[in-house]
Amino acid sequence: MEKSKVLIVGGTGYLGKRLVKASLAQGHETYILHRSEIGVDIEKVQMLLSFKKQGAHLVSGSFSDQQSLVNAVKLVDVVICAISGVHIRSHQILLQLKLVDAIKEAGNVKRFLPSEFGTDPARMEHALEPGRVTFDDKMVVRKAIQEANIPFTYVSANCFAGYFLGGLCQPGRIIPSRDSVFLFGDGNTKAIYVDEDDIATYTIKTIDDPRALNKTIYIRPPKNILSQREVVEIWEKLIGKDLHKSSISEQEFLASIEGREYAEQVGLVHYYHVCYEGCLTNFKIDGKDEREASELYPEVNYTSVEDYMRRYL
Ligand code: NDP
Repeated sequence: MEKSKVLIVGGTGYLGKRLVKASLAQGHETYILHRSEIGVDIEKVQMLLSFKKQGAHLVSGSFSDQQSLVNAVKLVDVVICAISGVHIRSHQILLQLKLVDAIKEAGNVKRFLPSEFGTDPARMEHALEPGRVTFDDKMVVRKAIQEANIPFTYVSANCFAGYFLGGLCQPGRIIPSRDSVFLFGDGNTKAIYVDEDDIATYTIKTIDDPRALNKTIYIRPPKNILSQREVVEIWEKLIGKDLHKSSISEQEFLASIEGREYAEQVGLVHYYHVCYEGCLTNFKIDGKDEREASELYPEVNYTSVEDYMRRYL
């Protein structure tokens, strides 16, 4: 079967650049939206040029020019969007409604993967304010996709390893301490940690896979379903030293969110749901509308938590 042509929107982003690399590595003709707004952002331009050198095609376009989006979409079979959705960086999830309109107008796209790549928003109706905005906005985009009858795959990638393992699951930290750590309650709630390069590899695997059509694909590498305490133990083994541990109760943590900057509050609410509630692991994947990536693609040799953490030694 001929491999689909892919357009990556947000290809210079934290996840997007990995999607570009994975798409090229898996042999897809790969197009990247080059937005005029990036202007003289030399880092982004250099990154785009390096992708071009590796065989990607750069397509000019802008979210302020609908026809340019339609023209870009018409070049490909599959569109993957990795537009920003982390408030402490930038949150542009609803801009995707323009992309949905463009895909609808172009009429040729066989699969659209919107910018999701986290907690499944469909399971977060109960999420707390203000963090729920991420899930609510992602659901608005899903509704538009489904109303337009656009074939889709939603990728629920759980915790990006760089944020969560880097900080031993502590918000606001991305380098693991060699001295101390605070635990969410008893630290025994399970979460799921995925190397961002593996997220990209699994995502690209889904695009020509009929088993992923109109499905939610959860990335749950079995060895990486661990509690915060287990993550800390792996780190302690690697550095050959026990960390000093303190604990924050659920009530204390919730109280600590009040009065913070809005963007911080959004992030802290996400940590609350992951690390106290266990929202990533407290449900079963149904096997019909929902599938698990490491089961579908056992050939992917995913990175274990221990191997990921070696980089900080
Ligand atoms: P980034 O913050 O790295 O941004 C990605 C890209 O979005 C940018 O490079 C840019 O692409 C595009 N963008 C930003 N602002 C605008 C704008 N105003 N107009 C048009 N495009 C814009 O995103 P991430 O990689 O951090 O996030 C991608 C997805 O992953 C999100 O859905 C996010 O929620 C999710 N995520 C999940 C995490 C987890 O732990 N599960 C952690 C972090 C993110 P360009 O300039 O190339 O066009």
